[in-house]
Amino acid sequence: MTASKNTGAAIVTRFAPSPTGYLHLGHAHSALDAWRRARHAHGRFLLRIEDIDPTRCRPEFVAALFEDLAWLGLDWELPVRRQSTHFDDYRLALDRLRAMDLLYPCFCSRKDIAAAAAAPHGPDGPLYPGTCRHLPTEVAVARQQAGEPFALRLDIARASEMAGPLTFEEERLGRVIVASRQFGDVVLARRETPSSYHLCVTVDDHLQGVTLVTRGEDLLPATHIHRLLQALLGLNEPRYAHHRLLTDSTGRRLAKRDAAATLRSLREAGQSPTEVRALAGFLD
Ligand code: GLU
Repeated sequence: MTASKNTGAAIVTRFAPSPTGYLHLGHAHSALDAWRRARHAHGRFLLRIEDIDPTRCRPEFVAALFEDLAWLGLDWELPVRRQSTHFDDYRLALDRLRAMDLLYPCFCSRKDIAAAAAAPHGPDGPLYPGTCRHLPTEVAVARQQAGEPFALRLDIARASEMAGPLTFEEERLGRVIVASRQFGDVVLARRETPSSYHLCVTVDDHLQGVTLVTRGEDLLPATHIHRLLQALLGLNEPRYAHHRLLTDSTGRRLAKRDAAATLRSLREAGQSPTEVRALAGFLD
């Protein structure tokens, strides 16, 4: 994997939406945060399309997000990286983890996992109980050859031990001690999406030379996994700034289902880009 130089000199930020719906005010806040930090520091701002999930991502949402961000007054470097065209990069990273003996095939369905007796929960839902972790190799191979669907999981205990103690730098929290085991054995690939969010984001931030990852605080727990993957794969360590999430008038966080808060509905209702930037929390 080619390393982009992370000299610490120029700040490189990014906004990395998944095109599964129209952008709303929460996205605008995230995008403006990243864009303004780059512009104020005379750094670089990148836009990345996180479209690895063919069942949820749609081309019309990609076209719409370019239009909405430009309307809002943002500009970004070209070409825009689209994850769906870079599966080779993620495969390479998976191969390296496999060669380190940190991956195993898991044949459990989501239902199997939810039904597992007293499955404790982690930040991403029920913790995987480890059913397939120690399947004999010949059994795992035979089941794969028989065409049984499987996911590739990271053996988190082994991976954490191999990586040793880790930290990451978070703007509000300072040095955070990595606690990656809280996730259990995360899925890094499935048949329908040959790489997971965690792996793609980590590989891309490295390949694109991102020095400051800005994103919502809902993704703070994921940073623990990302830091672990960086350490295992020898990738650059960016700094992190997780911002608070915008909420509606009832205090509920904004989501793609909130049609009234989409940038297009606000635009159609006659709001100007300046007004929408203010609604997204940026007055100047
Ligand atoms: N694609 C993710 C999302 O839309 C964001 C990923 C990230 O910023 O790390 O929620």
